Amino acid sequence: MSTTMQKRNIALLGCTGSIGISSLEVIHRHGEHFQVQALAAGNNIDLLRRQIRIFSPRRVSVREAEDARRLSSEFPNCRFFHGREGLERLVELETLDTVILAIPGTDSLAATVTAIQRGMRLCLANKETMVAAGDLINAALDRSGAEILPVDSEHSAIFQALADNPREAVHRVILTASGGPFSRLPAAKFSCITPEEALAHPVWDMGQKISIDSATMMNKALEMVEARHLFRLNPHQIDILIHPQSIVHSLVEYSDSSVIAQLGLPDMKLPILYSLTYPWRLTSGYPSLDLAKISRLDFHEPDTGRFRSLGMARHVLERGGNSGAVFNAANEVAVEAFLAHRISFADIFDIVEKIMYNADFEVPDSLEEVESTILETKRKTGELIAKEF
Ligand code: MG
Repeated sequence: MSTTMQKRNIALLGCTGSIGISSLEVIHRHGEHFQVQALAAGNNIDLLRRQIRIFSPRRVSVREAEDARRLSSEFPNCRFFHGREGLERLVELETLDTVILAIPGTDSLAATVTAIQRGMRLCLANKETMVAAGDLINAALDRSGAEILPVDSEHSAIFQALADNPREAVHRVILTASGGPFSRLPAAKFSCITPEEALAHPVWDMGQKISIDSATMMNKALEMVEARHLFRLNPHQIDILIHPQSIVHSLVEYSDSSVIAQLGLPDMKLPILYSLTYPWRLTSGYPSLDLAKISRLDFHEPDTGRFRSLGMARHVLERGGNSGAVFNAANEVAVEAFLAHRISFADIFDIVEKIMYNADFEVPDSLEEVESTILETKRKTGELIAKEF
């Protein structure tokens, strides 16, 4: 290991979303350590334009070909791409060593594997990719020597609590969950929840998909599966604890009953920074955690009766194979339908369960097979919603 932190040359996939914006704040603040080489956005072209002016990336990818064409004439020194292939073109840039993956969903699956094959550091803020294709991603990691640094606050906490402790001494990991905005609402009222209510998270300020996932606790379910793959745990080693203040980000219990936790204010810039600087720590300048001021931290068991998402996670953990891809794809379609006011909040659980428990079990051995499971599941979920909801 060298004695100083190397400058990181970064591709940021998902630069206009909540994690993307926070990542650019971190990069800007510590500009002497980081260089943005490539940016990928969806449809928020106005914000992207401002970001291009500030960070002068060499390559940029957007969702639509038309936007790529328009931007090319505005920024002649930058190369523009579009679509899912565009993401791969960014990751192929030779001068890169780091990719921040912050696009929700599974569109960045191929780009993720390409980044791993190229031996880069992957700062992973996307959980759906690991849930859908964790076994294949881990196999690619073993072959290439690339490293994954978790950005999700819970997984960053586990990563830090694991540190250099012997893996065989890990008894279990405990992921904390804020419980979301409806942690105390009776299940009978779930069908009346509007998308607007579900989007207002009490602690974290996040994008739409993850806000709905937090409200259903599907987010925690995805995180349980993500943890399994990231840290190569057995299903029984993964537990959940509700912790409304989101100060203790997660804990690891060892075989001697010692528990190591990681704490911090709920601000995604902290785990983003750590994923970029590991194994070093920079002077962040962010506010200190004042536990005397917070004065109390609460913990309680999750209610798996009201939040059936946690039972679904157990099913995926036990089953493995294609069950993560099916679970995640069904949830993505259900969330979209809920946001479009086509189904109720309570329907999300019914739809995902119905699709998941009726799916054929397979063990995918290629990315193409995972992709086709995702497409097939999305089609079936769309049909189910059209027919029965
Ligand atoms: Mg999280």
